[in-house]
Amino acid sequence: MPTLLKKGLALMLCWFVSSDLYALVILQYHHIDTETPFSTSTSPDRFTEHLALIEASGARVVRLEDAITRVAKLETENEIGPGPDAPAGNEAFQVAITFDDAFISIFRTVFPLLKARGWPFTIFVAPDLVETSAQYLTWDHLREMQRAGATIANHSLGHEHLLRLKGRQTDDDWMKRVSDNTREAERQLTMQLGGNRPLLYALPYGEYQPLIIERLHEMGYTIFGQQSGATSRSYETPKVHPRFPMGGPYSALESFRTKLSSRPLPIPHRLLDPLLGHAETRPSLSLHLPQSLTRTHRINCFGPSGALTIEPVGEGQYLIQTPAMLPTGRSRYNCTLKASDGRYYWYSQMWMRKLANNTWWEEP
Ligand SMILES: [Zn+2]
Repeated sequence: MPTLLKKGLALMLCWFVSSDLYALVILQYHHIDTETPFSTSTSPDRFTEHLALIEASGARVVRLEDAITRVAKLETENEIGPGPDAPAGNEAFQVAITFDDAFISIFRTVFPLLKARGWPFTIFVAPDLVETSAQYLTWDHLREMQRAGATIANHSLGHEHLLRLKGRQTDDDWMKRVSDNTREAERQLTMQLGGNRPLLYALPYGEYQPLIIERLHEMGYTIFGQQSGATSRSYETPKVHPRFPMGGPYSALESFRTKLSSRPLPIPHRLLDPLLGHAETRPSLSLHLPQSLTRTHRINCFGPSGALTIEPVGEGQYLIQTPAMLPTGRSRYNCTLKASDGRYYWYSQMWMRKLANNTWWEEP
């Protein structure tokens, strides 16, 4: 390939990467309540403080499907944004608010607060859980919120562990079970709420393997996980969009400000398999960052046991690893890089490590 052409391609890649400036921050809540489990709960007072901070930040609260479509438009047009450290305009600073599992506090506490502000929100619902106990919403609640502008979307049929639907079956059988589960959930949502809902899917427990994501993407879904970070493009390729979990300690105000103004780390999109056998205790994450960032900024990464080791292996290339063993169950590597305007680039990789004898863990 002629050198000039190579340089041109490199430059295009650089511009393309810059368009990641158009960040979408997605917040993920469960309960807004003080009586529910701490790790999945945000108190009503704290939630109100979050809303006040969003208001004060000048961020635009957007409908999730609209923001993803806008992100997709940028991608397909290959639109060139300003450099990574350029000041953020309104366009670059948008927030979507989401709730998983259809808990009753969404209707009692959240709905009046968001309705008063005219802010859109999305509820990811597993239809088999609706109306099963007093802690869950009813279909009437969901219909009322939908009429007022809320988006109701797919969260599997009964909140299954999608990886465990495999059992001893082949990958084809497994994928058929995932498709059937998703279709049945969509059928019930459509039957109860009508058919004009966008194809959005939040993974139960945020768990996935690449085959699941590829299948849901083939079915037309835009897919959301529970690894943290701001998101951006990759509408055309299968992707797990990150969301910032807001339960328990993750609802703290100081980190909320940082998360609200975060941007996606501008790196090429990859779909890593996060599932680890019991013996895989220290997985490596390889990151290739634009030199425009690494020349002037320092990357920091944290895992369950604190700071991760960051080994430079080339210009802008790093190998990230935990110094201590990862715990069994779900955990994350989080990497951030502070830009000169004070905003953070943010990237997170989820891991799932099996128990001894490669068995699955129990949920708390
Ligand atoms: Zn859930």
